[in-house]
Amino acid sequence: MDLLNTLLDKGLRRELPTRDEALAVLATSDDELLDVVAAAGKVRRQWFGRRVKLNYLVNLKSGLCPEDCSYCSQRLGSKAEILKYTWLKPDQASEAAAAGLAGGAKRVCLVASGRGPTDRDVDRVSDTIKAIKDQNEGVEVCACLGLLSDGQAERLRDAGADAYNHNLNTSESTYGDITTTHTYADRVDTVQKAHAAGLSACSGLIAGMGESDEDLVDVVYALRALDPDSVPVNFLIPFEGTPLAKEWNLTPQRCLRILAMVRFVCPDVEVRIAGGREVHLRTMQPLALHLANSIFLGDYLTSEGQAGKADLDMIADAGFEVEGTGEVTLPEHRTAAHAGCGSHAGADTGADADASAGCGSHAGGGCGPCGSAGQEPPRKEPVSEARTDLVSVRRRGAGTDLAPNA
Ligand code: SF4
Repeated sequence: MDLLNTLLDKGLRRELPTRDEALAVLATSDDELLDVVAAAGKVRRQWFGRRVKLNYLVNLKSGLCPEDCSYCSQRLGSKAEILKYTWLKPDQASEAAAAGLAGGAKRVCLVASGRGPTDRDVDRVSDTIKAIKDQNEGVEVCACLGLLSDGQAERLRDAGADAYNHNLNTSESTYGDITTTHTYADRVDTVQKAHAAGLSACSGLIAGMGESDEDLVDVVYALRALDPDSVPVNFLIPFEGTPLAKEWNLTPQRCLRILAMVRFVCPDVEVRIAGGREVHLRTMQPLALHLANSIFLGDYLTSEGQAGKADLDMIADAGFEVEGTGEVTLPEHRTAAHAGCGSHAGADTGADADASAGCGSHAGGGCGPCGSAGQEPPRKEPVSEARTDLVSVRRRGAGTDLAPNA
């Protein structure tokens, strides 16, 4: 297929596909899906081999958020029956982190609900980072605390944070439909603050919120322009008790196309499958490892994932290997120059530099799947079945007396 040959060549050269090419990936048929995975898988292997990085989430503070992000079970007015608790103490967080690290994770992601941290909160998280780093040599720590004020990114970096996560989540044009208490520009600003402070920026998206293919392409191009080192791809978990509870829009095939598109647009960036992996990819999860080079081990912030051992078995069975603490995740050209996916010479970023994120969580036109992108009517996604049976609220790990899943 011309489209896939073009995308493969561009991915190996770290060249930005055209928007039509990215849209064409999302419009491929089920008959073409394995070819799409194979092409994007070659790009993945070029930059990341067969390594899978494991990340472990510790929810430092759960629920009771004043913001109204429609997708979030911790939002203002959420009726989801999630765990609600205030800040974990540093030793409690460190204990939870240790379980994930013992399970094979190399990065701990410290997340707190809320619009953004106070300076006191930054002090608390700094103490937690120190506790984790003192007890676990070589661990990477990422903080995800919401919108940052001036100077807070620098303080987190000085406390030992390696990275900061804040997702753009969706396109700028639809952001206001998802959240009204802060703006897309606020999110962009925080990613830029993290970047400017020398933290490794982590920023991604949520698919399945009713967005169009154009919205998905817009947000991924905006991410490329922001140049994060890692891009988490969340698949909406439609929690009962949230405004998006009825949005069951994703099929395993759709998730694979989305991951392939992200890989083609951000070829040398850590693409991480985040929340919703088990719910939406289901038995197709191992195929997704050919596209993403990173996943979360065990549970998510407010929902339970499959057993940590099942994650490890899946990686081994699919012929991949868990990335060790001594291995560098990113390709050498990115670690050397911190010149990421949005800054390659000659690359067309295809989006304004100011796109934005949240806590939480085309080549040569006409080269479509059938050689005719832009001429064929868009493929209709099959209606997805609601799988509420696969959504389970987290009842173990941080904030409970039960052992974490790792
Ligand atoms: S995504 Fe973050 S800011 Fe938005 S409601 Fe959830 S916890 Fe609050």
